[in-house]
Amino acid sequence: MEIIFMGTGTSQGVPMIAHDPEKLDLQNPKNWRSRSSIHVVMDGCHIQVDAAQEFRLQCIQNNIQQIDYFVLTHGHADHILGMDDLRRFCDLLGGKSIPIYSSEIGLKRVREIFPYAIREKPEFRGYPAFQLIEIPPILELDCGRIYTTLLPHGRMQVLGLLFEERSSGKRIAYYTDCKTVGVKQRELARGADIVVLDALRPNSHPTHMSIEEALETALDIAAPQTYFTHMTFMIDHETYNIQFPQGISLAYDGLRVTL
Ligand SMILES: [Zn+2]
Ligand SMILES: [Zn+2]
Repeated sequence: MEIIFMGTGTSQGVPMIAHDPEKLDLQNPKNWRSRSSIHVVMDGCHIQVDAAQEFRLQCIQNNIQQIDYFVLTHGHADHILGMDDLRRFCDLLGGKSIPIYSSEIGLKRVREIFPYAIREKPEFRGYPAFQLIEIPPILELDCGRIYTTLLPHGRMQVLGLLFEERSSGKRIAYYTDCKTVGVKQRELARGADIVVLDALRPNSHPTHMSIEEALETALDIAAPQTYFTHMTFMIDHETYNIQFPQGISLAYDGLRVTL
């Protein structure tokens, strides 16, 4: 099982347009953060979670050759706007539509933004085709299972995901874009080999967890390895990473972890 961090930045990316990030060391490539998404490989099956504005570049930089399933956590711009570039993976699937899993509200957003792509197969070679499927609480795939839950994110709810590989039973939880992780969601993540948590910035925010809130959540779930993601320019990689207890680290663009 493998997780690839395609992007680990907040919605404006890091650095932001026309902004001096002061204490951020831009000589360190780990501080250059494109918008957040991950790619999970389970028993040879490739699952892409979200498609940021940089999705095409992220696929090239991380040598993504295949996507079998796409999961949209929620319809915010930084997670949905790269979806048009899934067209290439329709080609690679042999001219078929790509299965798109999300909540009812997530799928509604896909229909609004990409009406031309909702079809059984691409109109022409190179065009996108999305097969929209409302994600069940447990999605059974040949390669494993994806357990889903809902996380609070302001007026929106975000899909929290737990991936379980069929052959090994290894598990990865991905909880991005959330203000809190409730009791039920912590229970779902308990026992996972890797837990990924939203950790926006040092100070509190109405719809995301701060570093402190993410730390409390990580220590309670107590996974062997926790990674923080969706970070702003306020978090310098080296400055923060050395402060965390063992088994808790900041993710960075291009990080690949094999279980
Ligand atoms: Zn986001
Ligand atoms: Zn969001």
